[in-house]
Amino acid sequence: MAGKSTVEEAITAAQAAFPGWRDTPPSKRARILFRFKQLLEENAERIGAAITDEHGKVLDDAMGEFQRGVEVVDYACGAPELLKGEFSKNAGPRIDAWSDHQPLGVVAGITPFNFPAMVPMWMFPMAIACGNTFVLKPSEKDPTPALLIAGLFSEAGLPDGVFNVVNGDREAVDTLLNDERVQAISFVGSTPVADYVYSTGTANGKRVQALGGAKNHAVVMPDADIDNAVSALIGAAYGSSGERCMAVSVVVCVGDEVANDVVNKLGERIAELNVGPGTDTRNQMGPLVTKEHRDKVRGYVDIGVEEGATLVADGRELVVAGHEDGHFLGPCLFDNVTQEMRIYREEIFGPVLCVVRVESEEQAMRLIDAHEYGNGACIFTRDGEAARYFADRIRVGMVGINVPLPVPVAYHSFGGWKRSLFGDLCAYGPDSVRFYTRRKTITQRWPSGGVREKAQFAFPGRQ
Ligand code: NAD
Repeated sequence: MAGKSTVEEAITAAQAAFPGWRDTPPSKRARILFRFKQLLEENAERIGAAITDEHGKVLDDAMGEFQRGVEVVDYACGAPELLKGEFSKNAGPRIDAWSDHQPLGVVAGITPFNFPAMVPMWMFPMAIACGNTFVLKPSEKDPTPALLIAGLFSEAGLPDGVFNVVNGDREAVDTLLNDERVQAISFVGSTPVADYVYSTGTANGKRVQALGGAKNHAVVMPDADIDNAVSALIGAAYGSSGERCMAVSVVVCVGDEVANDVVNKLGERIAELNVGPGTDTRNQMGPLVTKEHRDKVRGYVDIGVEEGATLVADGRELVVAGHEDGHFLGPCLFDNVTQEMRIYREEIFGPVLCVVRVESEEQAMRLIDAHEYGNGACIFTRDGEAARYFADRIRVGMVGINVPLPVPVAYHSFGGWKRSLFGDLCAYGPDSVRFYTRRKTITQRWPSGGVREKAQFAFPGRQ
């Protein structure tokens, strides 16, 4: 756990490496990124195993997360194309103008426990491709994957000091937020901390993007293919034991007939789920990340019962043979959840799915729009008009149409609305080039042909 002085040492190393890295041509940076990508692919199983070991998610899921992170490295390999800038010849008489994307300097990343490889890879490959140097502070709950990945980047030929990883908690974060050498901060984690990081970082003059928590709704319309929707919901709600910022945590059923069908079918599928160690390929759900987090999630199930929701599936008493002290919680399902309940309003971040019953698509959309979070939402329907209306009007940042986890691919950008994102620019994709660079626009004139320039008193533009 790095204290203030260790974090400062990392910032000093990053600051020292910056001039050399800034001046390294983007194509040379890309060559190192290509080698890095190759090493990541060669070491995928080792890193996947480390994710499962520390986080607990099943191996298949760990490999999936890792692959999505590598895709951002693919995108970063295009640095020479992405950083080309814009050029206008003859913007005025004998005048050319161009815009340049210049790196910021030392950039920091602070990441959550739930994607210990992918979320760091949302940040540092693009920041570094753009010519910045980087200090990463991964989650103290599962820091090993980030360290393994950093080792591979070094092996790929990245100069010392360009990428630094420090472990730590609030003290490390506060050091990054308050050190004036850090130019920008990318944060992903819970909303209260995102709010704190954004307000402190921006008050200190830094550029900050802070992605926060979520409560992702799935709307099931009466015309949906219910069997396919239920399959999608099971994976999206209980995959990674619900510890995903894009997990579906609320199903909004339009009409009681749909709700009864969805709840019955979800109940049947829940009974078939295997929960146990993530290393056993027969399991679909592993343990929660820590005992404290498991107890917090289990506490929400108690709250839901007290609030009067109908507990259809109760995973609280699950014991995994041979792992009696493991942090397991079986899948839980609540029906008849209402807007006022805490289990509806708050992010639970575990294998707890809430079903809310409404009468119409409009009512479903009003519910989603009124929620504090606005990360993702999806709709299951066969009606193109209803889907198009939903995608156009709903107040969230990422929308799925018959797609339960609409996590954008690496060449788009990831981010929510409302209290799911503080700042203006999203993670990875085109937004990351904007976030990790500063625009400079140059206007130039070279006297030519012996033209004698006269003093101009009118504002340029009247020629
Ligand atoms: P967290 O907010 O507890 O921690 C995130 C990071 O902040 C960690 O590195 C941690 O060390 C640091 N931190 C924690 N408390 C702090 C404090 N008081 N001051 C300064 N730094 C602090 O989040 P978590 O529990 O690790 O991750 C789960 C959360 O992350 C969920 O809310 C989830 O929705 C969110 N998340 C969001 C996205 C997204 O893209 N929006 C993606 C993944 C996770």
